[in-house]
Amino acid sequence: MNQIANNLSSLRSELPPSVKLVAISKSQPVEVIRVAYDAGQRIFGENKAQELIAKAPSLPEDIEWHFVGHLQTNKVKQILPFVSMIHSVDSVKLLKEIDKEAAKISRNINCLLQFHIAEEDTKYGLSPEEAEDILSAGLDKELKNISLSGVMGMATLTDDMKQVAREFHNLHSIFDKLRSKYFSLDQGFCEVSMGMSDDYPLAIAQGATMVRIGSKVFNV
Ligand SMILES: *Cc1c(COP(=O)(O)O)cnc(C)c1O
Repeated sequence: MNQIANNLSSLRSELPPSVKLVAISKSQPVEVIRVAYDAGQRIFGENKAQELIAKAPSLPEDIEWHFVGHLQTNKVKQILPFVSMIHSVDSVKLLKEIDKEAAKISRNINCLLQFHIAEEDTKYGLSPEEAEDILSAGLDKELKNISLSGVMGMATLTDDMKQVAREFHNLHSIFDKLRSKYFSLDQGFCEVSMGMSDDYPLAIAQGATMVRIGSKVFNV
């Protein structure tokens, strides 16, 4: 078995069956992504619009592409034909742009609200108050071509595992609160995207439903 297939199978054996693995294929060429595809992986994540639109057309159509990086509104139109989920919605402006462009191509795009949970200030994301503003105004219900599917966050890059666990716990509590307040009738708001190569076991312990793993899949 090749190394990527090995990595995928050992990751799968560690993940609870309900947790989805998003293989983060940023900076990997199509041939390498194809190896992961041939090993059965179907969900891939990219963080740059240019890279996604360059690679997606030459890979199989049953790949589910997720966009996980910071997304500028002027790039939305280009990536929408390819993506099934955007993990990184961090403003009203972006949400509206996704809805507008999705309507033009008659698609519905699943979106996650990205929260700023890290103590570093370099990471993008909403505060709980900003999310409340969006949801209490019913904005997401007005936008017919997006579906809010849950939340996403990135923990601080630190060796302090207690801190990382605390940040994931915090993201899950935000999710629980929003779900009970605004989505009690909407089963579709169900995803908690957290955890990367160095911290996914902690994320799973804190209730992640999706982990985004790059280096541990591709050995980089
Ligand atoms: C790169 C990246 C990942 C994966 O990181 P690894 O440490 O390689 O697993 C996950 N999420 C986002 C948003 C990323 O940019």
